[in-house]
Amino acid sequence: MAYATTNPFTGEVVKTFPNATPEEVDAALDQAHKTFLEWRETSFEQRAEILAKAASILRENKSEYAQILTLEMGKLIGEAELEVELSAQMLDYYVKFGAEALKPRFLPAAGFGDTDVQLVSDPLGVLFAVEPWNFPYYQVIRITAPQVTAGNVIVLKHASNVPQSALAMVDLFRKAGAPEGLLTNLFLPHDQTERVIADPRVRGVALTGSEKAGSIIAGLAAKHLKKSTLELGGADAFIVLEDADVEKAADWAVFGRHWNGGQVCVSSKRLIVVDAVFDKFAARYREGVAKLVAGDPTDAKTTLAPLSSQQAADDLKAQVEKAVAEGAKAETLGAAVPEQGSFYQPTILTEISEDSEAFHTEFFGPVTQLYRAKDEDDAVRIANDSPFGLGGSVFSQDIHRAQAVARRLDTGMVYINQPTGVKADIPFGGVKNSGYGHELVDLGIKEFVNEKVVVVTDINGSF
Ligand code: NAP
Repeated sequence: MAYATTNPFTGEVVKTFPNATPEEVDAALDQAHKTFLEWRETSFEQRAEILAKAASILRENKSEYAQILTLEMGKLIGEAELEVELSAQMLDYYVKFGAEALKPRFLPAAGFGDTDVQLVSDPLGVLFAVEPWNFPYYQVIRITAPQVTAGNVIVLKHASNVPQSALAMVDLFRKAGAPEGLLTNLFLPHDQTERVIADPRVRGVALTGSEKAGSIIAGLAAKHLKKSTLELGGADAFIVLEDADVEKAADWAVFGRHWNGGQVCVSSKRLIVVDAVFDKFAARYREGVAKLVAGDPTDAKTTLAPLSSQQAADDLKAQVEKAVAEGAKAETLGAAVPEQGSFYQPTILTEISEDSEAFHTEFFGPVTQLYRAKDEDDAVRIANDSPFGLGGSVFSQDIHRAQAVARRLDTGMVYINQPTGVKADIPFGGVKNSGYGHELVDLGIKEFVNEKVVVVTDINGSF
């Protein structure tokens, strides 16, 4: 894919960027490695100073940063500002808790004294981060903030439709005082990916994106014996039990399915509602979706964004047509979306057969899969019958019951009485085809460190 900013609302190609040449790739890796050798010797205080500065630059220039997101991938301007703030909060988190998460610890071991067996967290080196366009800043900060705190450095390959967002992140760290090479952007063509992963100085690979890209990149990482983490797609179940506050649940579902234009890995994509409250929930949900206002994403009154590109809208259309061909019923809702811009008319799919492809598919846009479950057990069964295992939600006024249902879901995250959250201080990660490994907090920061064991033996002890 060529790197270009194309405004999804106007269709205008605003700016294009040339691919990195092999020489530029080599020079970037040279610099990143050189920076790593110096960066690993810095103190946590020095690292935290840069992160804190980056957080304040983001907050002081929130509007300018947000406009780049809206221009490149069509995010509503209010949501773009929230993403800038969330990115600042992630930076703050490691300023406060990074050193604590990485502090050496002593292990009790038979035959040794209390402080003889130590576990230290050493950085690995240059990490290669491949990131998607749906949260162009959040995704970059989500890997960069914890990893530079740990002493690693990042070489970024961002999605080809958000080149200016990628450059804005590199510029942010530079302005915050980071040395050149701490965060490096490469406009890398796909055929150069292996060159980067194979380089012996590159010690880890983190990808957020689709299953297809995950499988390719993790395959290359395995071939070259590099540690990888994968944050992939999801089809989060949103379970509504009969004792839920049904109106509140329906209102949350409208938000959970449609924020960011429905293009969130943890969107509430599969609404699974027990029979006893299905009709009440569905009526309120339809009403809420019909009220969404599609339009100019820079206008604060707009509540439904265009998709990130015309290709994304065309792909979604093809997926819905396929679902209908397989027997699902598609119902469109609300006023017709504007003809200008890569919009998709909000759609609810029902009567999706359990053996169809649609049942096991992620729809990345304003398309809802709505299922009627007989009861709690049936809802759990439908929820777990998915190749994905990212997030999920359970709605019930009985918190203990909801927590028990949460334990039965085969996912990495479950939120009770709200859609799966995206927070600075709660880890993120999935199971099954949604990937492996974690990002954020102490789990994320430890993904790319060498947990080195250092054992002391008393030199005066017996041989
Ligand atoms: P995608 O096509 O997989 O793109 C993601 C990144 O991978 C982009 O930088 C892309 O670059 C790169 N890429 C794709 N194929 C590649 C290849 N063969 N070699 C090297 N790089 C390659 O993902 P998408 O469809 O745009 O993004 C949406 C997906 O990401 C959804 O499935 C969503 O659920 C998932 N997602 C997951 C999370 C999470 O945390 N679990 C968060 C956000 C999104 P190009 O742009 O150059 O192709």
